[in-house]
Amino acid sequence: MSAAAASTVTFESRFATELAEMAIPWKAEEVPAPRLLVLNEPLAAELGFDPEFLMSAEGLPLLIGNAVPDGATPVAQAYSGHQFGWFAPRLGDGRALLLGEVSDAEGRLRDIHLKGSGRTPFARGGDGFAVVGPMLREYIVSEAMHALGIPTTRSLAVVATARSVQRETELPGAVLTRVASSHLRVGSFQYARVAGDGGLLRRLADHAIARHYPGAAEADNPYLALFGEVVSAQASLVAQWMLVGFIHGVMNTDNMAISGETIDYGPCAFMDAFDPATVYSSIDENGRYAYANQPLIAEWNLTRLAEAMLPLFDDDEERAVELAQESLGAFRQQYSAAWLAGMKAKLGLEGSSGDDEASPLIDELLALLQKESVDYTAFFRRLGTAARSEAEPVHTRFPDTFNESVAFADWTRRWRALNPDADMMDRVNPAYVPRNHLVEEALDAATNGDLGPLRLLLEAVTDPYKERPGFERYAVAAPEGFGPYRTFCGT
Ligand code: AMP
Ligand code: MG
Repeated sequence: MSAAAASTVTFESRFATELAEMAIPWKAEEVPAPRLLVLNEPLAAELGFDPEFLMSAEGLPLLIGNAVPDGATPVAQAYSGHQFGWFAPRLGDGRALLLGEVSDAEGRLRDIHLKGSGRTPFARGGDGFAVVGPMLREYIVSEAMHALGIPTTRSLAVVATARSVQRETELPGAVLTRVASSHLRVGSFQYARVAGDGGLLRRLADHAIARHYPGAAEADNPYLALFGEVVSAQASLVAQWMLVGFIHGVMNTDNMAISGETIDYGPCAFMDAFDPATVYSSIDENGRYAYANQPLIAEWNLTRLAEAMLPLFDDDEERAVELAQESLGAFRQQYSAAWLAGMKAKLGLEGSSGDDEASPLIDELLALLQKESVDYTAFFRRLGTAARSEAEPVHTRFPDTFNESVAFADWTRRWRALNPDADMMDRVNPAYVPRNHLVEEALDAATNGDLGPLRLLLEAVTDPYKERPGFERYAVAAPEGFGPYRTFCGT
């Protein structure tokens, strides 16, 4: 029985067909002895796959591109990208393939994509492979983001390849099966623009409208409307990152999705102690992608998108620039509004008090958290407990200097006077995020063959708002002595 026959899921190859200039048909490297490390059963079901089938000897090859279902045309996608500010006209999938698109239970088109499936014509000096640790890291963090309610690509599976991959040391190889509403990036538009082919750029924009923002087709200027939708989606996305303390780590234009989903989890991490200057990525020497810079970088990337789309906005270049600037101008306002609304909710103040009252309270609090290096996630969760009762102190594991500070006592008094809603706070302040020391622990164990810690961590972070007995250690800051923390990219 072929994989396609056993799987009732119908694959399409819309990207490969509609945008052939940006798609190189390619095959995944053969994996003689694949071993499933983790399968996302709810997501499999959402996509119409039988999880039992995917786990079987016939299903596994489908997950890693070794069995190509009918209708699928695996391709390496071409894209450009500004990497740390420098433009690379030809990046593309060096170690990844788009297998094809499937329709999920709600009729939405979803990409099935492989990472670590072998060298492609875009591989340059790379080996085309991926290793177990970073692929499981993407699985954990993307599924945590989804559970937090933040738009993101999803992870369907990680399969070990039994291949030994040379990094600083020899590490076990793996393939991640990723699911996304598409893999169209800012860098895809840059590629179409650089190709100097107006027809391709237009077709790409039409494809993006059809897949993500069909309402834009009805606008007077559909392409400008498309751009405006991307601006809004990114303003909302980055505000959500900031509210949960997420640091993407490598916000190059090839790693920013047109859909508004978080994409390409490399050196990403959740912030431990609150500090706007936090950078975890080992390659981000100048802090370009530091926590506090993320909204500015998103705006910078959107400006690059506007430049790429310019010929679509108006035939007259001056007019096109004017229109782009006007649309881009909405970013700051939309971002600030989303962030303030989110911060108010974190403090239990949604609607109950005016922004003029909340804003200085928020600024003061963040300055205090920074000054005393307070754990960002644990603080807001504990604050919810304090909102329930005057008697509850806002502490445990915070520095004494913070608990006992007059400034914080004064802040708490003024905040309590606004009658914060504790239930609301528990709905938006997660108890569990993939804390760096827990992620490292799970990845180390998995790399050495023990998947236990990974399973427990996933159990915690995929239900992040409901505190449960047995998961206490997942809700508290790293033990003293952990860090300074560094994450690595391109691994
Ligand atoms: P990333 O930093 O993961 O977004 O990757 C940036 C670019 O480098 C993309 O074009 C990737 O496909 C490529 N790349 C990263 N790692 C490898 C690798 N091991 N082999 C080939 N290409 C790679
Ligand atoms: Mg990338």
